[in-house]
Amino acid sequence: MSEHEPEFPGESESGSPQEPSNRVIIPDVLHSFYEERPFVTCTRCGESLRDFAEGFRISKSFKGDEVILESAICMPCMAAMMEETSEESKQRLEEFHEKHHRDVSGFDECALCVNTLDQVKGNEFNLVGVCQGDDMLDSALICFDCQEAMNEIISEETRRTWDRFRQENFPGVPSDFEPFPTRPAPVSH
Ligand SMILES: [Zn+2]
Ligand SMILES: [Zn+2]
Repeated sequence: MSEHEPEFPGESESGSPQEPSNRVIIPDVLHSFYEERPFVTCTRCGESLRDFAEGFRISKSFKGDEVILESAICMPCMAAMMEETSEESKQRLEEFHEKHHRDVSGFDECALCVNTLDQVKGNEFNLVGVCQGDDMLDSALICFDCQEAMNEIISEETRRTWDRFRQENFPGVPSDFEPFPTRPAPVSH
C-alpha cells in the first residue's frame, strides 16, 4: 500500500560485492505502525536504536490484521528488564523455552508449538524480530496459546514489573501485554 519504501540510504549498499547477500532487512511488518516508519528509538529509554551495536528487539502484537501493541527495545533495556524479573520467573521461563523451543524462525510457524500463522491469525499473536541497524537477525512468531502459557508461569512480582512497564509506556492497553515473550534467541550462523 505504501509506494515509497522507507529506506535509509546505506553507505555502501552496492560497494561490497563479496558480501554474502543473506542479509535480511527489517520487513515492513515490523515497522512501527503508529509512526508509519521503521522504529527509530527504544520504547523504554528513547535512545536511537541505530546506536546500539548489540541490537534491539521489535515486538508487535496483532489481532488478525490489527496491531494491538508494538515496542522496540534496545538490548541494554532488555537486560535491565530481565534484571527486574525474579529469579524464579527467569528460571521457569527458561525451562519453558528450552522445553518448547523449536528450530524454526520466521513468521510462518509458532516458535514454541506446531501452530501455523494461518491457524492463529484469528486470535492474538506476536511477531518478534531481533534486529541490528537495518537488519533483522532473527525472527519468531509466538501464538496466543504459548503467550498465555508463558504469562501463567511468571510470578506475580514479575507480572507487576511488566505491568509497570506497560503502564509507563502504553497507558490504557490490555493487561495481558508482555513485552518480551521469550528471551532473545541466540544468534548463531
Ligand atoms: Zn533502551
Ligand atoms: Zn505456539
